Amino acid sequence: MSTIGKTIAIIGAGPAGLMAAEKLAESGCAVTVYDQRPSPARKLLMAGIGGLNITHSESFDLFLSRYGEAAEFLRPALEYFTPEDLRAWCAGLGEETFVGSSGRVFPKSFKASPLLRAWLRRLDTLGVRFVFSHTWRGEDIGSDATILALGGASWPRLGSDGHWVNILQEKGIAITPFRPTNCGFVTAWSPIFAEKFAGAPVKSVTLTHQGRTLATEFLIDKHGVEGSGIYALSKSLRDDIAATGHARLTINFKPDLSPEKICDALQKPRGRDSFSNHLRKTLHLAPVAIGLLQEDRGLSSLPLPELVARITAYPLTLTAPFPMEKAISTAGGIALHELDSTFQLKKWPHMYAIGEMLDWEAPTGGYLLQASFSMAAWVGTQINR
Ligand SMILES: Cc1cc2nc3c(=O)[nH]c(=O)nc-3n(C[C@H](O)[C@H](O)[C@H](O)COP(=O)(O)OP(=O)(O)OC[C@H]3O[C@@H](n4cnc5c(N)ncnc54)[C@H](O)[C@@H]3O)c2cc1C
Repeated sequence: MSTIGKTIAIIGAGPAGLMAAEKLAESGCAVTVYDQRPSPARKLLMAGIGGLNITHSESFDLFLSRYGEAAEFLRPALEYFTPEDLRAWCAGLGEETFVGSSGRVFPKSFKASPLLRAWLRRLDTLGVRFVFSHTWRGEDIGSDATILALGGASWPRLGSDGHWVNILQEKGIAITPFRPTNCGFVTAWSPIFAEKFAGAPVKSVTLTHQGRTLATEFLIDKHGVEGSGIYALSKSLRDDIAATGHARLTINFKPDLSPEKICDALQKPRGRDSFSNHLRKTLHLAPVAIGLLQEDRGLSSLPLPELVARITAYPLTLTAPFPMEKAISTAGGIALHELDSTFQLKKWPHMYAIGEMLDWEAPTGGYLLQASFSMAAWVGTQINR
């Protein structure tokens, strides 16, 4: 399609929709962006509250591997608009980025709002039109091509509510059911523990699930566990629960001490100290870790080797993911085989789909935003060919 004078409708003013709008407007298309919320990119702004981890600095191959089964499908887009390109694009909007200690990339401002403001100014200069408070219900907008960038199904109040699923299914397009990812999980705390420790971080632990061990931290929630370490394992935890009804997470509260050293420390005379004070003084365990260990009634009467095993391999049973509304992102969406290599729907000519609404998932670390931006940049060039 030659682009000059072509009209393009983009539904969804999140990162994917806005990036597609920029690329197509730059190449001479007349672009209109529709969104059902009264203002754009509400989820991007929400991500900004957490510092806006926009991409990652690791090697490209490692980066690509984070997308699991969807990696090869996403490869052309990610090669076309790489993490370096995204950082240069941010800098072009006046938002320099930096690499944090974990290799994650953030804007120096740690926010999304200055980036979004500068971006909207650029889109205005390019002549992009916006129509807000407009919910797309499958109607033909009368454009030469339409790009759907409707997002997944988490945090529906920010606009991406997944209601578009029925519209595409009516066209015979396969949709993989949504599942929460990068989410917390339910566990049965005692009311006393939940009351006392909800919100407390559990730091400097290792978490193991299905043979994968991470040195990390997590957060206690009233109903379970969440936070970075849990998000990183969320795909395998979720799939394990779906397959077996529960997932067994193993926590090592003292990963830097050998079992022998722990054993030696615990053998120090306890004197008049309570059992929890003894754990605190000998192993420097935080109150939340001691509280969690004591969720196991009878901990204090365990023989020493079993006590050491509890501290280094505490089994925590998780029974369900937290609701999708609270997840950072969702797996599921348009099955990838429904799209050609230009992100056009095979069963709906001139209709393209990009971003989180496709069936792929990735951990936190900037991978979600990078892939959404990259798909959008790629589709811009593909419509332009
Ligand atoms: C709390 C939180 C923190 C996050 N932090 C990070 C992070 O640090 N790094 C990272 O990489 N990712 C992060 N993410 C994920 C990231 O924000 C999303 O993956 C990304 O926004 C997806 O972009 P998108 O453009 O595909 O969809 P969205 O940003 O969800 O945008 C979709 C848009 O489509 C509109 N829409 C939906 N249906 C319709 C309809 N029928 N008609 C009209 N408009 C419609 C919505 O209103 C919305 O504006 C975070 C998410 C959350 C919730």
